[in-house]
Amino acid sequence: MSQELAKENRQLRAQLAELIANAQKNQEILQRHQTLDLQLIAADSFQALTDTLFHTFPRTAGLDVVTLAMLDAQYDIRRILVQLNMNLCDLPQLFFLQEESEFGELADRLSRPVLGGYSEQLFGLMFPEPIAPPASAAVVPLSRHGRLIGALNLGSADANRFKPGMATDFIEHMACIVAICLENVINNERLKHIGLTDPLTGVNNRRYVERRLLEEVVRSRRQETPLSCLYIDIDHFKQINDSIGHQAGDEVLRAVAGRIKAELRLSDALGRFGGEEFVVLLTETEPADASNVAERIRQSVAEHPLSLQSGQQLDVTVSIGVAALPPPQADETLEKAAQQFVARADVALYQAKAGGRNRVVAAAAR
Ligand code: GH3
Ligand code: MG
Ligand code: MG
Repeated sequence: MSQELAKENRQLRAQLAELIANAQKNQEILQRHQTLDLQLIAADSFQALTDTLFHTFPRTAGLDVVTLAMLDAQYDIRRILVQLNMNLCDLPQLFFLQEESEFGELADRLSRPVLGGYSEQLFGLMFPEPIAPPASAAVVPLSRHGRLIGALNLGSADANRFKPGMATDFIEHMACIVAICLENVINNERLKHIGLTDPLTGVNNRRYVERRLLEEVVRSRRQETPLSCLYIDIDHFKQINDSIGHQAGDEVLRAVAGRIKAELRLSDALGRFGGEEFVVLLTETEPADASNVAERIRQSVAEHPLSLQSGQQLDVTVSIGVAALPPPQADETLEKAAQQFVARADVALYQAKAGGRNRVVAAAAR
């Protein structure tokens, strides 16, 4: 009798130990996921959020790949991220769709998560090259305010990880948090974007260029790549304003900004510095190439008159000063180097004005 009791006792203890071990394991999983939730919520930039999604999340959830498809019909999100200097080419896991139909066969099924063994036909679009296709996948819709904003795509090398009909409470919970966090960081980035954009011309404002200037000077120094600056000023703009009115003058500013922008690469930074003055930072650009860009801008403004809304055609010219970032000086501070760099372009601009306007002058090398 006592032997049987002892045996039962042992069994009960073993069961209890197993239950405790399971409870501990579940507790650990829960804690890991809570930590992940907190990390997602704490992300204060798009970059921080995608870092968590593409690196921390797969590790925590034992996934092999996570991708994010975002609906961005108006190029809104992409424009903002590019202005904020985010390199989207470094993130193959992130891609943008113009419209819901680009989800392909998934499009009609995205009211709920779609799970299953990987098939190119169904899931291929959500795991684009160079991402290796997983063995099973879950495509989880992201919605805000009843509207689909994208999809979070989970991939596993285990073919049995995601099967149709599996419980999806956890991934739906995740998707809900991710959707809110995405909306939140995009709104944050939008605010930053507004604070860095000139409302009249839509190009960057002075604050942006000054900030970018410091970043580019640091980059140029570290990577030993050339950096050039153009200081552009519309000729006789006061006269233009006086003759066609302030509002048409604004139109001229917008049109000139457009002509300048058309001659630049995406990696260059154009900003309205004040009144009718624009500054351009040309990254990885030697002085001779910078002068060529300046000359192209000068010609593109001078050689075709601007068409105003009134139907009037207007001849406008610009003068441009060009400077190259000199090698580092022994006692320079970053701010001083950046300031003097732009100031040298401004001095060259002054010489272009003095020389008769509608011309490009490069500051002498130092
Ligand atoms: P210069 O060839 O020497 O550059 O002569 P300028 O007339 O262009 O130079 P000045 O600096 O004397 O005049 C700049 C004018 O730009 C004066 C100002 O009324 C006008 N301005 C500044 N900001 C704006 C703006 O936002 N809209 C319009 N329409 N005009 C502006
Ligand atoms: Mg001026
Ligand atoms: Mg002027």
